[in-house]
Amino acid sequence: MTSRQTPAIVLLVRDYGEADRLVTFLTPSRGRLTGIAKHARKSRRRFPHVLEPLSRVNFFLSHRPGAELEFIQKGELVDSFPALRRDLKRLGAAAVLAELAGLLAGPPEAYAQIFATLEEVLGLLEGGGPPDSLLPAFLLRFLSLGGYGPRLSPCLHCGLEPAPPLHFSIPRGGVLCGACSRGALGPVLPLGLGTWKLLRLAQGLPRDRLSRLRFPALQREQSLNIFKAFLRHHLGREMKSWSFWEKVEGREEAGRQAHREGAP
Ligand SMILES: [Zn+2]
Repeated sequence: MTSRQTPAIVLLVRDYGEADRLVTFLTPSRGRLTGIAKHARKSRRRFPHVLEPLSRVNFFLSHRPGAELEFIQKGELVDSFPALRRDLKRLGAAAVLAELAGLLAGPPEAYAQIFATLEEVLGLLEGGGPPDSLLPAFLLRFLSLGGYGPRLSPCLHCGLEPAPPLHFSIPRGGVLCGACSRGALGPVLPLGLGTWKLLRLAQGLPRDRLSRLRFPALQREQSLNIFKAFLRHHLGREMKSWSFWEKVEGREEAGRQAHREGAP
């Protein structure tokens, strides 16, 4: 049995049997792993607040040859991101980004970058960064790291600089001219010129400058609609955390609406 230490970000925790917990977590060297934390429901000494989704921890793992699961011997908390957890919207954005980071199965040479990118965006949200802009910017970055980066130029059909009104082909994962989008295999979603420019800008920026981008409401809505449909198409199902994000985002929008109309 070998034993080693790894940085990790906790993605999912489930009770297992009478006393154990099953933990899914992201690592920089091996991507997403699942481990069993024996007696974790009783031993707070070995797992002091480390088995919480989104926590940045260090795990001490051992692996028995032939076994499917890692054994989590103990964990140390590095950062629990407490401010992020107190704000539903920041929590919603973090949950979507963490779920996507965990779903990207590779390529293995991207594991370290995927981990560092998730750690960075959790830190930005913890520090008060705007979830409305960080969510689309970092969703785009994760898609690119996983090899699913949308192709924003040239037009996928005619190969020229795409001519408005632009559209986004969900099955092909890229942009089409207005004329080329007619008769294209659907779904095909509208992509405003402003959104297209913003996404192209985001695609070309180094990671440490992504947080400076701002997505106005229309650009955010179009980008998120495209990413949501694109992920649903390629995963074959809805991402679990997306409905939570939409609920907390919708609640804020409804609150603004009520305020404008003078409702209590
Ligand atoms: Zn075209």
